[in-house]
Amino acid sequence: MSAPVNAPGYSKAGIRKSRTGRWRAAALITLNVLMIAHIIQWRLMGKTVSPIEPSETMHTLQKGFVNAGFIFFALAILATLIFGRFVCGWGCHILALQDFCGWLLKKMGVHPKPFRSRLLVYVPLLAALYMFVWPTAYRLFARPALEPLIPKFTNHLVTTNFWQTFPPVAVAIPFLFICGFMTVYFLGQKGFCTYACPYGGFFGLADKFSPGKIRVTSACNQCGHCTATCTSNVLVHAEVKQYGMVVDPGCMKCMDCVSVCPNDALFFGFGKPTLMAPKSNAIKRSYSLTWPEEIVGAVVFLGSFLSVRGVYALVPFLMALGCAAVTTFLTLKLWRLLRARELSFYRFNLKSSGKMRQAGWAFAGFACAWILLNAHSGWVRYHEFLGNIAFNKIHLPDELALAQVNPVRWLSPIDRENILQGKEHYVAASRMGLVANSETLPKLAWFEYLSGNAEQSVQTLGKAAAHQKDESKALSLYYRGAILNRLGRYEQARTSLDEALAEREDLILAHQEKGEALWRLGRREEAVTVWTNALQRNAQLVLINNELAGAARLSGNLDEADFYEKQADRFTPNNPLYHWVLARRLEDLGMTQLAEKHLQQAKKIDPAIER
Ligand code: SF4
Ligand code: SF4
Repeated sequence: MSAPVNAPGYSKAGIRKSRTGRWRAAALITLNVLMIAHIIQWRLMGKTVSPIEPSETMHTLQKGFVNAGFIFFALAILATLIFGRFVCGWGCHILALQDFCGWLLKKMGVHPKPFRSRLLVYVPLLAALYMFVWPTAYRLFARPALEPLIPKFTNHLVTTNFWQTFPPVAVAIPFLFICGFMTVYFLGQKGFCTYACPYGGFFGLADKFSPGKIRVTSACNQCGHCTATCTSNVLVHAEVKQYGMVVDPGCMKCMDCVSVCPNDALFFGFGKPTLMAPKSNAIKRSYSLTWPEEIVGAVVFLGSFLSVRGVYALVPFLMALGCAAVTTFLTLKLWRLLRARELSFYRFNLKSSGKMRQAGWAFAGFACAWILLNAHSGWVRYHEFLGNIAFNKIHLPDELALAQVNPVRWLSPIDRENILQGKEHYVAASRMGLVANSETLPKLAWFEYLSGNAEQSVQTLGKAAAHQKDESKALSLYYRGAILNRLGRYEQARTSLDEALAEREDLILAHQEKGEALWRLGRREEAVTVWTNALQRNAQLVLINNELAGAARLSGNLDEADFYEKQADRFTPNNPLYHWVLARRLEDLGMTQLAEKHLQQAKKIDPAIER
């Protein structure tokens, strides 16, 4: 029996208001406050516990980094195996965001409607397998001979670079908007959880094994208040009637149904897990899509996901899944809008009697803009992808390429073809792109350098560095400095290398190149100091040992020269190209005696090698 409309503690529909909602809101707000406190503590102290975020588990599985995210995810799955999917309902910040968006929309009079698909519900599990199982499976078949299948575990519980694995703030904001507001508005209150969240894929699976379930007593009279309240779209009344418990793995144990049941017929308790429940087709679900639409939807989802994932090296995996879910909804709705005579969306009448209404045009305009943006991203991504394939086919060692300003003599016809094609793809992506791609720009610069256009390469590396930070920025500035050295622009080279070292002080090759720039500028004592400091970090650096030997010889310190030369020889590989590279670099520095020695050694091993 329903309570009178507007009775205190009851909704307009006469359903008792959930009392657990407030507790859950408090738990989720506390979670967000703790997350903010974690970031503030890191900013203030410079180091902190690594992010407590399930995605960090990928680094544990792939690189052996044992971090807080992995420990949290492992414990959360264990807890789910026993108690069911509580972690999602009470401890997930994305769910908190969806709840917040749902609450805001309700305040604006919009009650998010669930989008029900038969096929897309498998996306979270597939995404989880791709994230957490595929890398290990791939290594099983394609890892290098000496690499172990399970990496050696190392302690990464504390970090100084908390944000290293997260997208930049400029991406985090659209991420939260798309995975929060848009998925809630278009796909329902748990739209992201249902169609995108990879962690939910594993939590949903674990929930099937758990004995902890929402269960029912004989007091249930099938009033349906529980189903009407559930924001996870679980058919609570039907499931408890059929199975005596909620079996849908989408149940996040929010306890709203328990709280609103007028007969107090529901409770959380332990018993048989879902897997032991008898199979039944008695519960008929209503779906938003026909089977042909399901298939078209799956294709659109995949296409959209591949188009946006990693585009401009900006869109992360989870955001791409959220975007793809929204694109699928908009495409299918647009298709219906074009074909149907009558169509509405929330309170908007999009089309009536075959005539498009104003709201219909607005919806069609938004959907077309979104789909076109996706298609555009797909075009850019296509070129980035083919450029990356071409880049990965070039195996010319850096030392050889950077030994002299034009490395074209070392390129095979296939290399040249790959460089040409790769360059074309990267240029096309960069011309069409809406923002610069900080990962493909340095690769384009390398193609430019390899094809003999060092000047253009210097410019492109400068552009890349302007869009990068930390290690990738340091590397772009280092390569820029190295190429400027080959071009004879030593002062600019030194500046670029100093900038690289400001980003990464331990970038030993930048010290080496900086020493060379200083030497060529006539600041020989400074050069020797830079090389000596670099050698203190790594005594096996062959070129620097040779350079210090050459410097000592030129200043008449023959014992010292002898010491460095012997140290260099101990670590010099017996490779003609390696000796040739040393000869070239030493000759450029005016250390002709040592250069000649290495050239002769190169010729001794391979008489065909030319100066
Ligand atoms: S469990 Fe409670 S709310 Fe759900 S149908 Fe039965 S009586 Fe109604
Ligand atoms: S079935 Fe009940 S506990 Fe589970 S999500 Fe729905 S309302 Fe929450």
